[in-house]
Amino acid sequence: MYCGESRGATVDHFEPVARNPLRTFDWLNHLLACTPCNSHEKGEQFPLDADGHPLLIDPTAEDPFEHLLLTLSLGVYRPLTPKGQATIDVLGLNRRGLPNGRMHARKVVELALHAWDRAHAHARSDETQKHVQTVQDQPFADVCQSMLRQAFSPGADLVFSDAPDLLALLRRDDLRAALLR
Ligand SMILES: [Zn+2]
Repeated sequence: MYCGESRGATVDHFEPVARNPLRTFDWLNHLLACTPCNSHEKGEQFPLDADGHPLLIDPTAEDPFEHLLLTLSLGVYRPLTPKGQATIDVLGLNRRGLPNGRMHARKVVELALHAWDRAHAHARSDETQKHVQTVQDQPFADVCQSMLRQAFSPGADLVFSDAPDLLALLRRDDLRAALLR
């Protein structure tokens, strides 16, 4: 959960127990998270807006991409809403190490997708599956999800100006079906 860097080794109470003891054993309040996100960044923080609604994106109920935009060239998250801003701040989503990790993930995904394309063109299904697996096993799954979404955004040509072949691939139905299956 949250940064997407690791597979997570701790369980975060999304709404802190100190704030709402009734949610201590609520299944959807238990989120797998890494130690830096859970302990070093979030801790007991749970900011609210002026109306008393949570200002953190709840990943069990909300689509993070409605509040956050990943700048693929920099690996940095930008807020689209106040909730996005609070989530970036509280969880340190742009902390040292994460942007570089996301930029690396973008490159790995790009290489794997081109390899998938070549294997697909020769109808080598074992190989295509291997390349899909490479993408799915990557940390920072949010990077590939962002790429697939931004391929159809109005600014897509600009976002992928350095990689028009990649953009064409990301828009292909067969590739999207293989990745999103
Ligand atoms: Zn984390």
